[in-house]
Amino acid sequence: MLPDLDDVILENADDVLLVSLSARGLRAKLQSLQEWCAVNFILINMLKTVILIFGRLLEPSPVFKLGNETLKIVNAEKYVGVNLRTDTQNIFEDHYNAKAGTARYCAHRIMAIEDKTGRLTPKELKTLYMARVDCHLTHGCEISPDCEDVHVHQLCDVQISFIRQILNLHGRSMLIPLYTETGIVPLRVRRFVLALGYLQYLLILLPTHFARAAVNSSIKLAAAGKKSWAKDLLTAASKLPFPCPELDLANATALSVLDYAKMIDGLMLRWIQGEVDSSEKLYLIKGRREPRKDMAPAPQTLRLRHYLFMVKTQKHREALTSLLLSTHLLAVEILRYGDHAQPRENDRSKRVCRFCKIEVETPEHALLTCDASPEVVSLRTAFFGKLFIDYTGILPETGVPERDRAV
Ligand SMILES: [Zn+2]
Repeated sequence: MLPDLDDVILENADDVLLVSLSARGLRAKLQSLQEWCAVNFILINMLKTVILIFGRLLEPSPVFKLGNETLKIVNAEKYVGVNLRTDTQNIFEDHYNAKAGTARYCAHRIMAIEDKTGRLTPKELKTLYMARVDCHLTHGCEISPDCEDVHVHQLCDVQISFIRQILNLHGRSMLIPLYTETGIVPLRVRRFVLALGYLQYLLILLPTHFARAAVNSSIKLAAAGKKSWAKDLLTAASKLPFPCPELDLANATALSVLDYAKMIDGLMLRWIQGEVDSSEKLYLIKGRREPRKDMAPAPQTLRLRHYLFMVKTQKHREALTSLLLSTHLLAVEILRYGDHAQPRENDRSKRVCRFCKIEVETPEHALLTCDASPEVVSLRTAFFGKLFIDYTGILPETGVPERDRAV
């Protein structure tokens, strides 16, 4: 027999949630609960027992009693770690706020470790992020698909801020390299794919299971254009940062949802690679191949880059990151914005080198080819001399200038 929608009682250990579509139904359930507790010698904690009413409130407000005690009607409560509110458009608004706050606190605690240990490496920070921050940023994403921007944005801000700290980038740095360099998936996509995993689980359940009955009902509501979890899921898909086809919920199976999730993963990678390829600032990381163990180097869109764990000296690693991701202080980058000291220069070809005043001041020009500053030339010569002595595999060839070999 299919479950009735008004039969729902959720129990998590001793935490009981009675759900009803009507005041009369809820009173009947409270009566049953009281009788069951009396027979089984269980006392109900009246201080922790409250009523939440979702939807339009009727006047006068209904009264609910448990024994002789009148139960309080409140606007907000927490059930199995999820904050619920009745007086906001999104009942999970408090949950988003609470989880953003906890994730931010955990992120600060991780950074505070550095006071005792010294600077942590990007690999260590990524591990700590996945263990202590990501869990809060994705908590409850299965039950509240991100159909509104305002709430999920604060979670995304925590993720972006943490990755910038991993890479030591400033607050104006581009967003796409945060993912390409660390291998961390953009939060909005991650939360959506996790929600799809939950849908997959629901679709495996038998039709007699309450959760399956609930998702079937939700899909019917979505098909009728009414508010529901399934409609929120479709809206969340339309708000991803790349276009994707709509999920066919009417004919969805666990397998078709799995295929859809894989397609979302592929579309995300294509979107990220497309953003890198089309960016004027990220030309140094276009078409790069990532070293792989016992295999030929190959292009990889998302992963923790080898230079982030192979370059052991913090300052060298951070300088390299800044050059690759164009957050350095060379003219090609800083004249892009301009300030009170330097006017903005829109024409890239006019962001010329501060020494030779001819070529565009790019990383490759400043580090490898500019001969206008004797000091820079001297430092470069000393560096290449040391490089070729320490690493005999790249010994200089006769007649080829050092700078050209390096290029
Ligand atoms: Zn120059």
